[in-house]
Parts: sequence; C-alpha cells; structure tokens
Amino acid sequence: MKTLRVAIIGAGLSGLYTAYRLSQVNIEYQLFEARDRLGGRILSTPGPGPRHDLGPAWMWPDFQPRMAALVEELDIATFAQHTEGAMLVERSEHQPPSRTVGWESGNTSMRTRGGVHQIIDALADKVPAERIHLDCRITKVTLRDSKAFLTAPDGHLSLESTGFTHVISALPLRLLAQNIEFDPPVAASRLAHWADTPTWMAPHAKYIALYSAPFWRADGLSGAAQSHIGPMVEIHDACDPGSAALFGFIGIPASARKRMDQGTLLVV
Ligand SMILES: Cc1cc2nc3c(=O)[nH]c(=O)nc-3n(C[C@H](O)[C@H](O)[C@H](O)COP(=O)(O)OP(=O)(O)OC[C@H]3O[C@@H](n4cnc5c(N)ncnc54)[C@H](O)[C@@H]3O)c2cc1C
Repeated sequence: MKTLRVAIIGAGLSGLYTAYRLSQVNIEYQLFEARDRLGGRILSTPGPGPRHDLGPAWMWPDFQPRMAALVEELDIATFAQHTEGAMLVERSEHQPPSRTVGWESGNTSMRTRGGVHQIIDALADKVPAERIHLDCRITKVTLRDSKAFLTAPDGHLSLESTGFTHVISALPLRLLAQNIEFDPPVAASRLAHWADTPTWMAPHAKYIALYSAPFWRADGLSGAAQSHIGPMVEIHDACDPGSAALFGFIGIPASARKRMDQGTLLVV
C-alpha cells in the first residue's frame, strides 16, 4: 500500500484545519507557514488581558454551518453580536452624525468569546508541534518521479531529501499564483484563473478602540456607525465580557495604507 506523505502550504485557518483532520485519520503530513505565527488573517490584539479581533470577528452559522460545527467541536463559546440600539451616520464634515434605526442582519452574526484566535489556538493544540514549520515560505513545487519536492529559500527544505505524495495549498489562490513556481509549469489558463480569483476581505483592516465602559450602550446606541468621511467607514461594538471596545473598518485603500507608517495612519 502506498504511504501518503502530505505537505500543507499555509497555516491559516484552512491549513491548520487540514492538519487537524489529517491527524485524526493518521495521515503523515508536514505544515509549512511563511510567517513566524499561525492563523494567517486571523489575528487578535496581543494579551495579557482581553484580546480583540483584528481580522475576522463574525461567523454566520446559517451559511457557514461547517464553521459553526467546528467551533462547537472545539468547545469554543460564542455569543451574538451586540446590535441593540440606534446607529450613527456621519454624512459630511459640516453636519453632526445623525441617529438612525439600527441595522439588523437577517443572519445573526456570532462572535467568539475571548477572540477568534481561540479557534487557531485550539487547532494548534491538536497538531503535533514537530509537524509545524514556521518562517518557512515555500517558493517552488517540483514534481519528479511522482513525488513533489518543495523549495524554501531559507534552506528549511532540501529538494533532494523530502518527497511528498501530495501537496495541499491552503493559500488564497492569488498568492498561490503570484508566489509559488511550479516545475513543470501549471497550465497558463489555470494560473490565470488563480491570479484572477479575488481573496475575500483581502484589502480590509481594522482599528480597535478600547474604553473603560461601553458608554454608547447607556446612550441607547448599538455602537454601529457609518461615516462617509472616515477614516473609519464602518464601526461596530466589539465588547467582550470584561472589556469595552469598538472596532472600525479603516476606509483607506490597502495600497495607500502600505505607504503609511502606523503614526501617520492614526492621525489621518
Ligand atoms: C479585516 C478582516 C476581517 C474579516 N472578517 C471576517 C469575518 O467577520 N467573518 C469571516 O468569515 N471572514 C472574515 N474575514 C476573512 C477571513 O479572515 C478569511 O476568509 C480566513 O481567515 C482565510 O483563512 P485561510 O487559512 O484560508 O487563509 P489565510 O488566513 O490567508 O492563510 C494563508 C496562510 O498562508 C501563509 N502563506 C502565504 N504564502 C505562503 C507561502 N508561500 N508559503 C507558506 N505559507 C504561506 C500566510 O502567511 C497565511 O498564514 C476577514 C478578513 C479580514 C482581513
């Protein structure tokens, strides 16, 4: 019987979940992550103390049932996004923000108590540490004699020594097209399809504001706000038990943010 030996590229939620499931069925794998941390786009503010989501915060069990099932399986507590109260809309610099009826989604947005990083931490606990290779950016996949050989520029992997029977990419397709070379090359039409596939929420970034109390709730406000001026264009309540916070989506395009240092971004 052929022994499976799988390489997983990328240790965001998708890569870690894949590793978790392969562990359950005793398939041999190694997980390679370019960054020095797990989680990819899932990132929370650092502890100690309450942690807040800088990446995803919401899950919608009605149309993400497998995500809901995973959270339950990992025994992670969830609660509904706070939406009770009015919302504020800022239309121009010359008018004060106006109060309006709060927006209610048909699908309840569920949050993870304590931050979404807990899903990553829980999955990482179930993946043997020796199978996770951080700081290991894969740059090339070479197919030779029915085996796949990975290249990492910092010398983590040697083309000669490690052959994989399968490679699972857990990267956004656009990154796969841009950053990984294939030998023999992938068909041009497939590469174009990967390159043209948008990555959901890729340009978005969040700002978290911490307060001593959720003063907006006492004033009959939900914490939700929209601004046509920015820099926060959409704001929501981000309280967790024991901490009061709002988060805002930063309305400055990713390309412009890239050229700004943190200090400039905060005073825009
Ligand atoms: C601000 C923000 C808010 C969001 N809000 C929500 C939300 O509320 N609800 C929701 O469902 N979704 C939301 N999303 C989307 C959600 O974060 C993603 O869909 C999800 O995290 C994708 O996980 P992934 O593992 O597929 O990809 P990623 O998290 O992108 O993981 C890919 C991993 O691959 C690594 N990698 C890249 N290149 C290489 C390489 N060459 N070699 C090795 N490793 C590599 C990366 O470092 C990364 O760790 C949000 C995203 C953002 C940015």
